[in-house]
Amino acid sequence: MDTPTKVILDEREMPRQWYNILADLPHGLRPPLHPATGKPINAADLAAIFPENLIEQEVSQQRWIDIPEPVLEALWLYRPSPLVRARRLEQALGTPAKIYYKNEGVSPAGSHKPNTALPQAYYNKVFGTRRLTTETGAGQWGCALAFACQQFGLECKVYMVRISFDQKPFRKLMMQTWGASCVPSPSMDTRTGREILAKAPDTPGSLGIAISEAVEDAVQTPQTKYALGSVLNHVMLHQTVIGLEAQKQMAKISAYPDVVVACAGGGSNFCGIALPYVRDKIHGKAVQIIAVEPTACPTMTRAPFVYDFGDTAKTTPLLPMHSLGHGFMPAPVHAGGLRYHGMAPIVSQLLIDKLIEARAYPQLKCYAAAMLWCRTEGFIPAPETSHAIAVAIDEAQRAKEEGKEKTILLCWSGHGLMDLKGYEAYMSGKLTDYDLPQEDIDRALAELRDYPKP
Ligand SMILES: *Cc1c(COP(=O)(O)O)cnc(C)c1O
Repeated sequence: MDTPTKVILDEREMPRQWYNILADLPHGLRPPLHPATGKPINAADLAAIFPENLIEQEVSQQRWIDIPEPVLEALWLYRPSPLVRARRLEQALGTPAKIYYKNEGVSPAGSHKPNTALPQAYYNKVFGTRRLTTETGAGQWGCALAFACQQFGLECKVYMVRISFDQKPFRKLMMQTWGASCVPSPSMDTRTGREILAKAPDTPGSLGIAISEAVEDAVQTPQTKYALGSVLNHVMLHQTVIGLEAQKQMAKISAYPDVVVACAGGGSNFCGIALPYVRDKIHGKAVQIIAVEPTACPTMTRAPFVYDFGDTAKTTPLLPMHSLGHGFMPAPVHAGGLRYHGMAPIVSQLLIDKLIEARAYPQLKCYAAAMLWCRTEGFIPAPETSHAIAVAIDEAQRAKEEGKEKTILLCWSGHGLMDLKGYEAYMSGKLTDYDLPQEDIDRALAELRDYPKP
């Protein structure tokens, strides 16, 4: 054995600061715009839905930002997360490549999402917020925020995309266990929800609709703010603990990745593992950084870089991002966390700057990869995570063909123990791939024609 199977950090070795890529982006980020004026938004525009301390973080240019002590202590419940060598998978593939994965499935909610839910709940508590609202797709983010609100003594209301609410009943129960309330979206609890239900009573819902509902609730309820689980700069910042830990862990075994890969829905677990490596790359390191998305929702690989709303009801600022249009309705693939119409401005900018690359994979290929993972490494991955696994397997196979000793690092974003219905559908041959016709993309994008161009 040339390296150990697991590299574990001591709690005291956990990073004490988050890394802010805004300090190092070679061309900066385009500002979010106010939809009415077309001018960059100011802090006051965001104050209706976010607390001041998080707005400050959202626009901060400071390279390193201290993790507050109470947040560190809460993160210690499950962090540092292990870095694991997927040796059994390597053997099954017969590859000379070394595959490492950062297991973010060890958190109470089962994914990387508590890494930002905890600081967001903390900063809201400090600010004086009493209640948080949010949306959730597959239920991972709703669970993470429910858990975090419980830790810091806040109320929590979750609008869950209806198709996932029906497919994943246990996620709702987890949220309730942590004291949150969870309703299917669109719901009768908001004006947006009622209007959509009147027109389309059978709609499966979408993340865009659920965001609109959660924002409306936050704006209209006293002492209530809104929390977003991905896309925004401060979320990417909080997730950098993943990559910063990974760098320490790999340094302990004198390893450095040739390839870093993660799936991307809104971009947060990808940024979490990738941004510290993007920093290295900006400083001249050779490292290939890959974000992977489903072919059913190809924001990075087929959508243009535009200004678009973050939600369906057009209540958020206009964000500079790769987007399929705020009216886009993705096919009901099981990777619910990857069904978002846009992509984080930071990820979008990194793509334009060619510091990272993107791929789109169909769900059957990802499930096949996940099954091989389960039967070698044991842990059952979330359907979202299976996309990163599929890329890692392809890269390991390429290394074999080329006879190269490559080191691959993947972000194992979460476990799939609440997603077994997807596995059941796959194993009984009922799953299909979705080819997205160009007309659907064109139709969704037609709505953006008159918006400002980044
Ligand atoms: C939410 C989620 C994702 C996608 O969200 P990102 O913001 O792109 O990270 C990926 N994997 C898991 C397990 C998730 O819960």
